[in-house]
Amino acid sequence: MIDLRSDTVTRPTPAMRRAMAEAEVGDDVYDEDPTVQQLQERVADLFGFEAALFTPTGSMANVLAVAALVGPGEEVLCESRSHILRAELGAHGALLGITSRTWVEERGQLDLPTVKSMYAPDMGPFFVRTTAIAVENTHNFAGGTVLPLADLQELRGWADEVGVGVHVDGARIWNAHVATGTPLREYGAVADAMAVCLSKGLGAPIGSLVLGTTEAIEVARVRRKRMGGGMRQVGVLAAAGLHALDHHLDRLADDHEHARLLAEACGQDPALTETNIVVVEAPDAAAVVAAAREEGVLIGAVGPTRVRLLTHLDVNRDEVERAATVLSRLVG
Ligand SMILES: *Cc1c(COP(=O)(O)O)cnc(C)c1O
Repeated sequence: MIDLRSDTVTRPTPAMRRAMAEAEVGDDVYDEDPTVQQLQERVADLFGFEAALFTPTGSMANVLAVAALVGPGEEVLCESRSHILRAELGAHGALLGITSRTWVEERGQLDLPTVKSMYAPDMGPFFVRTTAIAVENTHNFAGGTVLPLADLQELRGWADEVGVGVHVDGARIWNAHVATGTPLREYGAVADAMAVCLSKGLGAPIGSLVLGTTEAIEVARVRRKRMGGGMRQVGVLAAAGLHALDHHLDRLADDHEHARLLAEACGQDPALTETNIVVVEAPDAAAVVAAAREEGVLIGAVGPTRVRLLTHLDVNRDEVERAATVLSRLVG
């Protein structure tokens, strides 16, 4: 089977498993795991943040990041198909007691004029107050689209003016970085809080980080424990992340090239595929998913008339070409 359902399906490579087996560990609840500390310091530094905290999932990293910016009864604004609202099972409302409003942008982009018009300042006992704007880079359900740095910088400038926080869900910020050449620090500079995943295109079996100020990360550490996310000799997992940063970052360019090849096979303008996600319109998505499976290609449906494919380090060029042949017949 050629599995294009997600870039989360990768299995740790033999070299990654060796790095995990050899990791130096300690009890991370006591903040004594040197490998976790190394990963946290390295990722914080990569993005120019003061501190970072290792979490089991990106969803937990997002909840901790949003919690750092938005209090109970306050609101976060985000795009309508944001992962934080659509795919985290209501965690932000259920666990944090926050509300949200959305803008709609077909390619998942920031629509700053609309954001400005939606923004609600503190009106005391009359209205819900906006305390953060959350953006997603790359945007998953919009098809791995990149948010241009200039737009993010404009958001940053306005957010500073009005005193609102900016959260970046950077589960796939690595893909945006490789696709555009934008330094990670430039992306970090526009955010007050950020979440990044090691378990997507980077190919670690598990692991994400939340980034913020030293003070915010100290609070996040308490909240993580409260949510049941205090972990012990977790350096074995952090080691996978460090290995991924060393060996799997630059190769994301291959995934992007593979995704364009698949987009073209599906009859799309390959220029619309900016990173490793291809979203294709199909009259009957479930039928296409079933037919592709029959021919050894796993893809996913995202809604009744859309299928989604992702490239990753466990599908090589040869497999991508075989999948392209199948998909061009089914949806091309
Ligand atoms: C995958 C993903 C996350 C985090 O997902 P987990 O499965 O909880 O690790 C967050 N945001 C986006 C955009 C994602 O694609």
